[in-house]
Amino acid sequence: MARGRNRKKGNAPRDAAGQGAPPAGDGAPGAGSPSPVARATAPRSPRKPSRPSHGLSVPVSRALPRTFQGRLSLAFVMVFALAVGIVSVLTVFVLDSDLRQQEMTNLEARANAVAAVVRVKAETAAALDPANATVVSASGALNDNVLTAISEQAVLSDYANNVAQADLRLRFGFGSETSEGTEFIPATPVSAFSAPLTAQPGRGQARDAVGFTQIFKFEDPGGVKPTWYLEVSLSAPYTTRQSTIASVVGFLFVSSAGALLLAIVVSAFLARRFTTPLRRLTDAARALAEGDLARRVPADRARTGGAEITELSRQFNAMAEQVEETMETIRRDRDTGREFLADVSHELRTPLAALRTFNELLRERAGDDVAARTEFLEASAQQIERLDWLAQNLLELSKLDSGLIRLDLRPDDLRATIESAVEQAQVSARRRGLSLTAELPDTPLVTRHDPQRLGQVLTNLIGNGLKFTPRGGSVRVVLSPRNRGARIQVIDTGVGIDAAELPHVFDRFYRGSRSNEARGSGSGLGLAIVRSVVEMHGGRVMVESSVGGGSTFTVTLPADPRTSADAVATGAVSAPAGPPSAPEAEPPTATNQPPAAATAAGAAVDRAGPD
Ligand code: ADP
Repeated sequence: MARGRNRKKGNAPRDAAGQGAPPAGDGAPGAGSPSPVARATAPRSPRKPSRPSHGLSVPVSRALPRTFQGRLSLAFVMVFALAVGIVSVLTVFVLDSDLRQQEMTNLEARANAVAAVVRVKAETAAALDPANATVVSASGALNDNVLTAISEQAVLSDYANNVAQADLRLRFGFGSETSEGTEFIPATPVSAFSAPLTAQPGRGQARDAVGFTQIFKFEDPGGVKPTWYLEVSLSAPYTTRQSTIASVVGFLFVSSAGALLLAIVVSAFLARRFTTPLRRLTDAARALAEGDLARRVPADRARTGGAEITELSRQFNAMAEQVEETMETIRRDRDTGREFLADVSHELRTPLAALRTFNELLRERAGDDVAARTEFLEASAQQIERLDWLAQNLLELSKLDSGLIRLDLRPDDLRATIESAVEQAQVSARRRGLSLTAELPDTPLVTRHDPQRLGQVLTNLIGNGLKFTPRGGSVRVVLSPRNRGARIQVIDTGVGIDAAELPHVFDRFYRGSRSNEARGSGSGLGLAIVRSVVEMHGGRVMVESSVGGGSTFTVTLPADPRTSADAVATGAVSAPAGPPSAPEAEPPTATNQPPAAATAAGAAVDRAGPD
């Protein structure tokens, strides 16, 4: 069997002779599409005026979930649904294309089978008349026996139902050789025979609106009989394509719906997981705003939100830390301020009460007694001097606290500063029957310091030494190099300080229990001033003392307060005996202060106080 060149695929062609039933699928493709005329005359719906874009966006944004978590979930689900939709459509499209391909192969096989059985039938029928045994004669006439055999509807139906499984049309003919090849010419008087498919469809089968046509050429192997042609057209065959596609679509639909449900659950879970750190952050921010300054975002849990959220949480915690510290400082300052005010009031009240008493006594009976009047006036003068001294100290301390005092830092020989302070205190020492000496190195010991302020520190320390040392004792001021800075020690042989009092001696208004025994009355501000000035220099002040064994105040100074390294190098000294006696050095205050405008501070306070 040889195939003719006019093989056609697609819809079955109409029967040229108009004989037999037209194939069911004839002209089916395109039947559903509107004709050009219909398309041209179809009334067009009037175009609606386009709405401004914000008109749409408002309802859309209202329809969106309000929370970030909701929007995140919705976005997940929409992306997933879109992906599933695209995959499903592509799957169906590819499947349909493959099935059509298979269907064509299948139809070709069925057409071959039909041609084979028809050939046997036709050639057997033709052979019944040995005088004219050709199926189609050279002149194009169809053998009568063939005509009779093929015309039997039962035979054709058998072919259509059992072999072709489609609407079947057969055409007999002969060929004419042209320059383009062999041309199929229908036989006479009748060439075409048709039979519709009447068998019941098998499981999953359905009619498919496709057609297939193939022309077969039959040559006599002996070359005696003329060659004849058979055109086999199959249309609207039974196939399983539609049912396969339907079941695949159904499966895709069910699985997509399941996957979508899963996606909703997973996206809700993930969105919740992602937004939980944000919620924690919001809670922490709210708590902070409501005054819970200790509230923080747990760092380990913030990590679940990703790097950005972790960073945000860290920054939030740093900010909260800062806020808490600031508030704590403000609170502490406020408390200190209150205490300070109470102390100041108390300190002022004592001399003022004494003055009032003297004044009343003088106005009453003592005013006439010359000796009593002189005594009261002297006592009043002492109280006034004490008031003045107190005011000076308070002013000094408040200036130091508020940062109004700026150090006049300059490289200077510390020996000169010490010599000057010792010199000034010599009169007082002699009056008290004490020896006051300075032990200085032979070579200059230069540090960057404010000579006037450091002189004040020395005056206060020496004054205390003189005040708390009984007659016959000594006060020594020793200067020595220390790392790259210096160490100044004021050593006395005085009454000493009780171990329990040591940690408090630098507090404002603190006066030790033994201070009344000493001749000086004091106000408890001197050492607070000392500490402030030393810390402004980036240094430290410490005290070692034992009751009855004298006291040693040690001031360590960096070579240059403006470099913190120096401050650290010289500051790391601790009291070897007794309870912790020195306040820890704060970062050098002087580093922040331009050294230029620093000379405005008042004169050094006389720590010996009014005698
Ligand atoms: P005050 O004006 O009372 O001396 P300070 O601040 O200078 O105030 O000193 C606080 C307290 O520390 C003193 O009241 C005293 O008890 C104790 N103190 C200070 N220096 C000495 C010292 N060299 N010897 C013994 N006690 C001292």
